[in-house]
Amino acid sequence: MIDHQAHSAASLNDCSASDLPWQHSLWKSLKQRLQDDRLPHALLIHGAPGVGKRALAQRLVQTLLCLEPKDGEACGVCRACRLSHSGGAHPDWVQVAPEPEKTVILVDQIRDLCAHLSLSAAFGGRRVGVIESADGMNVNAANALLKTLEEPGADVHIVLIADRPGRLPATIRSRCQPQFCPVPGHAEAILWLQQQHGGEAKLLSQAVNLAGGGPLLALEWLQQEVVAEARQVAKDLVGLYREPQQDPMPIWTRWKEIPAPRLWRWVLLNLHHWCRALQAPGGGQLSPQQLHRLLNLSQQAQQSLRLAASPVRDDLQIWQWLLQWSQQGPQQD
Ligand SMILES: [Zn+2]
Repeated sequence: MIDHQAHSAASLNDCSASDLPWQHSLWKSLKQRLQDDRLPHALLIHGAPGVGKRALAQRLVQTLLCLEPKDGEACGVCRACRLSHSGGAHPDWVQVAPEPEKTVILVDQIRDLCAHLSLSAAFGGRRVGVIESADGMNVNAANALLKTLEEPGADVHIVLIADRPGRLPATIRSRCQPQFCPVPGHAEAILWLQQQHGGEAKLLSQAVNLAGGGPLLALEWLQQEVVAEARQVAKDLVGLYREPQQDPMPIWTRWKEIPAPRLWRWVLLNLHHWCRALQAPGGGQLSPQQLHRLLNLSQQAQQSLRLAASPVRDDLQIWQWLLQWSQQGPQQD
């Protein structure tokens, strides 16, 4: 599917990039490059999930399309800005992303994007194509993009956004200028979350840790009460470890309602903390066999995380993993 800017407005986080203090210097440098006409035709914005890559791309596109930029920023009031800021469809801004609940961008989506960028600009200025989750392009989609990346045409800009740029083919990466989006420091992230969401620092800190440092992801999870879900998984793991004779069915019933990538993330985070705690001085209370099994279970969880996007039955994976975890208890040796 291809959308004019309406798609971006729906999928981008509501936070504006100007509200993200850890991006201030990055934006300053991007703006300068734009003013000096040194911005490449293809930019690959990459960084950890939830650091504000989409918000940055949105700010850049709005600036690129603005008819009367002020101090290198989109003016916010011209005809182009009114369209691109309001969530309406700016005809020269096209954006593709994986379909909802999917991770793959298909060749037809990229073909449509390239075809649109080859048309003349409706506003007579720049045309911009944005590819969200570009690392989800399959091989055919990536190949379909190559020609446009090589010969983008005058006044055409392509912005790729990726959490894992290493997954992109080298042919794509070599034709884009990378732009890394930094993760803010822990304290800065918590301060920002306090302003956006509020709540006790301990909860905010936990959300930041769970999100791997990405404040926007942490905010999303706080709003969806995902932190409570992660706490429950931790509680379930400890409970089943201490009382392996208990029926794992209620845990399984809870876990299979959690989106698989998130569930395995919580499991792995907990196992990681356990391993670290056990390796700390005075922490080793497990036999070598138990430690070995712990590492083995961690590998299985990683495997399940990799399979989470495939059609493999998640509930079966969860059940088998839980049964093995229940055999991990101390009395098993
Ligand atoms: Zn404007």
